Formats: sequence, C-alpha cells, structure tokens
Amino acid sequence: MNLTILGTGTSIGVPMIACNCEVCLSDNPKDKRLRSSALLSIKHKNILIDCGPDIRKQLLSNNILDIDFVLLTHEHNDHVIGLDDLRPICYLNNKCIPILAEQRVIDSVIQRFPYLFKKNRFGSQAFEAVPIAPGKHHYNSIHFEAIRVDHGGLEILSFRFDKLAYITDAKRISPENLARMLDLEILIINSLQIDEHYKHFNLRETLAVINQLKPTQTYLTHISHRLGLHEEIKLKLPPNILLAHDNLNLSL
Ligand SMILES: [Zn+2]
Ligand SMILES: [Zn+2]
Ligand SMILES: [Zn+2]
Repeated sequence: MNLTILGTGTSIGVPMIACNCEVCLSDNPKDKRLRSSALLSIKHKNILIDCGPDIRKQLLSNNILDIDFVLLTHEHNDHVIGLDDLRPICYLNNKCIPILAEQRVIDSVIQRFPYLFKKNRFGSQAFEAVPIAPGKHHYNSIHFEAIRVDHGGLEILSFRFDKLAYITDAKRISPENLARMLDLEILIINSLQIDEHYKHFNLRETLAVINQLKPTQTYLTHISHRLGLHEEIKLKLPPNILLAHDNLNLSL
C-alpha cells in the first residue's frame, strides 16, 4: 500500500493570503501547504481521502489519472469543495465515482453539488453517494475501518487501513476509539499550531495522542502557519514523529 499526502495545510492553506509572518514568507517548499488530502493506492485501487479546493493542482502534480472511490472525513469546505474538479476523471474514464461518507456529509455535499449526483443530458452521472457509518467496511475489495473522532463538537470520521491510520481535524478521541488505532505502523494525524484551538489538536495534544498510541512512525498534517517553520519544528520532535509535507510518499 502506498500513501501520497497531497496536502498538509489547514483550511486557509500556507502561506495564508496577505500574511507576512516568517512561515508564510518562507522559501522552503516544505512550508507551502495545500489543503489536506491524501491518495491511498492499495491493490491497484486509488482511494482519495478528502477533496478540498486545491485538488485540481494536487491531482495534476502527482499525475493521478484515476480514482476508484472517495472517502470524506467531514463536510467542511476544505475537505469537499474540490469535488467538482473530479469531473474529468468521470468523463475520461467513463465512470461514476462512489463518494463514501456519513449521511449528514452526503446530504451537505449533494446540497452544494446537486448536478454531480444525477444523470446529465448524456445519461452519465459523476458521483454515486454511498453512506457509511463508523465501523469496519469492505468496499470494492478494500478493507477499512471508519473511526469516530470529535472535531470540536462535530462528529467526523478518521480511517484505518490495516496498519495505517489517517486522522484529520480531530480535537478529541474517546478511549474506546483510540483503542481502535493501536498497533499502527504509520499514523497521519492533525496538529494545527502551538496554541490551543477549540476545534483542532494543537501540538501538545497531538503528541499526547501519539504517546498513547505509540505508532512506529507518525506524520503531522492539517498544519497552520502558526505551528512554525518546518525546519525549526522538526528539530523539536522525536525521531519517529515527522512533519508531513505536500507530495510526501509513504509505503507500507
Ligand atoms: Zn479541515
Ligand atoms: Zn503567516
Ligand atoms: Zn474541519
């Protein structure tokens, strides 16, 4: 299995428009963060996790030609608003892409993009809604577990594929759901900034979760310009905890 991290930025991305802080002005490509998304390739299937406003650029720069299905963590704009940009994949591959998400998220996405979920005048349809709930799933020959995390009052999903888990936008995870993420080789988890935030883990909270789960390797994502410079923050982290960066490729 192969995971390409397509974006590692928080909802406004890094650099933030009109910001003159040292992170936003940094020349280091690792300080440039598109909105958070990832592509998992497993058994010759491409699974897109979240589809934010940068997806067109992300798919083009990683030469991603096909998507078998999409998993959505939740309905915030930075995770869904790029869905319309997947249409070329539907046209060129003559397919209807399944969108797997909780019913509430599906309702929200259909409200934003009603035309993508019904037949067009040529009789084809871009997306098919597939409601899922927390629990173990076997879809299109892929096994995964949807695990509940709390995003500051909004119940959202994280995903586990065998020994890899992808958590974004979490603020709290119950002990019973943390127990579903033990024994991981790779953990991707959100870490917004140094200061506390009411909807996202800050660095201290993320490190506390990592300390409980003890995955072999962890990569931080959904990062704001307020976390600090990539080169400076990485020196403060233990060797098996790294800052993810856009286009990072991981194999398991
Ligand atoms: Zn987000
Ligand atoms: Zn800034
Ligand atoms: Zn969110």
